[in-house]
Amino acid sequence: MDAGMCLKKLQYVGVLEFATADGQGNPQVRCISAIHYEKDGIYFFTARGKDFCRELLADGRVQILGYTKYKEMIRLSARAVPAPDEEQGKWIRTIFEEQPYLSNVYPGKTREIGIIFQIKDGEIEYFNLGVRPIFRESYTFGKGRIVPKGYRITENCIQCGACEDHCPQGCIEPGSPYLIRQEHCLHCGNCYENCPVQAVVRQETTFGL
Ligand code: SF4
Repeated sequence: MDAGMCLKKLQYVGVLEFATADGQGNPQVRCISAIHYEKDGIYFFTARGKDFCRELLADGRVQILGYTKYKEMIRLSARAVPAPDEEQGKWIRTIFEEQPYLSNVYPGKTREIGIIFQIKDGEIEYFNLGVRPIFRESYTFGKGRIVPKGYRITENCIQCGACEDHCPQGCIEPGSPYLIRQEHCLHCGNCYENCPVQAVVRQETTFGL
């Protein structure tokens, strides 16, 4: 798996959820299918009058989520910016050709109310719940960076084994200290709650861009 394969899978899913925050910090989620995929990122269409557009112009941070029939969750965290003015027309034509229903929604010249945003830097989290043990991995494209998540075990570990016994995915290995195999970790926190000496710590999460 890699970032390119994840983008391909999102393309197959087709309709993706785009999450932004409004001016009051309230979550806002939309289903978007007016998306064009390139090797180095994605382009999507919305209308300049929509709250979605206003939120993207004001902040730009967006999370995009797709879920496949194989129980794969793919989440892209990024900053969206308007495509360059000289490319707007080209990407609008491309997206309308790929998504013919858009000509029904915006017939004729009304499509000119549209704006294309592009995402060329981002982090992609791949999370497969359809295999055992579950599998997760993170990738980047452009200038994106991976933000550590979940839990890790510190040197305070006394090797009692309680975390290993409580892990639903069997992803904790004995050692000094014990080790969480991050690629199989659910981030459920059962190790964290059952460690007698608080040797399991939560990794701080911030937005990567
Ligand atoms: Fe180490 Fe805590 Fe796990 Fe015990 S429960 S093995 S002390 S991390």
